[in-house]
Amino acid sequence: MRAIIVGSGAGGATVAKELSDKGMEVVLIEKGPTIEAKDASKYYANIDSEVEILRAFCLGGTTTVSAGNGVRALEKELRGLGIDLGEEFEDAERELGVRTLPDSHFGEGTKRIMVAAENLGFDVKKMPKFIDPAKCTPCGKCTSGCQNGAKWSAVEFVKAAEKNGAKIITDMPIDDIIVEDGEVAGVRSKGKVIPADIVVLSAGALETPRLLRKQGLPTTPNLFVDTFITAGGVLDGIKLNKEVTMNALITFEEFILSPHFSNRLVKRMDARGVKVSSEDVLGIMVKIKDEEVGEVNKDVKKVVTNRDAVLLSEGAAIAGSILEKAGADPSTFVSTPVRGAHPGGTARIGEAVDKNLATEVEGLYVADASVLPASPGAPPILTIVALAKYVSKIILNRS
Ligand SMILES: Cc1cc2nc3c(=O)[nH]c(=O)nc-3n(C[C@H](O)[C@H](O)[C@H](O)COP(=O)(O)OP(=O)(O)OC[C@H]3O[C@@H](n4cnc5c(N)ncnc54)[C@H](O)[C@@H]3O)c2cc1C
Repeated sequence: MRAIIVGSGAGGATVAKELSDKGMEVVLIEKGPTIEAKDASKYYANIDSEVEILRAFCLGGTTTVSAGNGVRALEKELRGLGIDLGEEFEDAERELGVRTLPDSHFGEGTKRIMVAAENLGFDVKKMPKFIDPAKCTPCGKCTSGCQNGAKWSAVEFVKAAEKNGAKIITDMPIDDIIVEDGEVAGVRSKGKVIPADIVVLSAGALETPRLLRKQGLPTTPNLFVDTFITAGGVLDGIKLNKEVTMNALITFEEFILSPHFSNRLVKRMDARGVKVSSEDVLGIMVKIKDEEVGEVNKDVKKVVTNRDAVLLSEGAAIAGSILEKAGADPSTFVSTPVRGAHPGGTARIGEAVDKNLATEVEGLYVADASVLPASPGAPPILTIVALAKYVSKIILNRS
């Protein structure tokens, strides 16, 4: 029995590893190239909607540019849908090496934000990371691609799958799924047909729905992206730009705050006539559970709703008070444009796929952020990996 997996990101690489580990014939097909981890920033394939949506096309997918944050998201919501991922989360945390980093990996900027937030009465935690502190020499480049091989990316699972005998094909975009008599029969790329008994779509929440729709299969108009801004101000010589990014977490009901440097803060300050170097900026990301009302058609439509704007403003106000308490100059405060780095919800569980992540076509499954049932407002990789482990068990049980 041959399984083809389309896409090698958080979902696809996990399924490839799990199925090949149990001896199944696996072909993993990735649209992007094989890259050096440190060059990942060259492979961003962002989408310019009203909210700019970030993602990467390369082996390992968007995990190659992640900040290395590993938290359990949507556990309760998935349990409500009859999916208990307890065991899968535990396995994922162990395999990715999720832990908080030692104090040696906390820079002055992060520490100041943590102390200031605590003094204002907020509950501040260290962010759980899939970063190996023994290999990490903090450089602030997590989301450009890890320079030291310290951060887990899905490439590790791709390599494990290859070792298990899986065939890995890069630079091959899948254009279509082949369905015969209600059963999946393979995939097509540039006119070439590759037959399969099982196909798992893991092309990410902005591409998987397009492949489903070509077959007339249902998708869901519930695109979320965990919309975020970064608010920042000047604090001379703080060097947050050289620290482990997002190393602390302050959780609110509908948004999170985390220390974050963005070059766009420097540009915004410059546009306002405040000349600073990247080393002089202290920033905090405000990331919300956005309204699930975006759509993927020929174009992607994702706007900031009134409710999203209110949440972003509330978060920015709190971020501003923390930044000021931490020593940043309030007369220099600016914010980045709105962006989103966690697209999902375009083939939701219970609507486009069933509880087994199966589509209406026999043998066709989805294992990526498309299936997530709600905006997590939190890093989703661990949840996507856990779901991919879960669907792998289902596929192995049927074969
Ligand atoms: C800057 C940034 C930082 C982030 N940091 C974190 C973090 O710290 N923690 C966290 O949990 N999440 C983080 N995320 C989000 C996380 O990376 C994504 O949610 C996750 O990778 C999505 O997994 P996926 O499997 O759905 O898709 P992806 O990982 O995007 O993988 C999809 C893959 O499919 C390939 N593909 C697309 N179309 C085709 C096709 N037609 N044929 C073949 N292949 C195709 C793509 O090239 C890609 O490799 C971050 C995202 C960004 C942008």
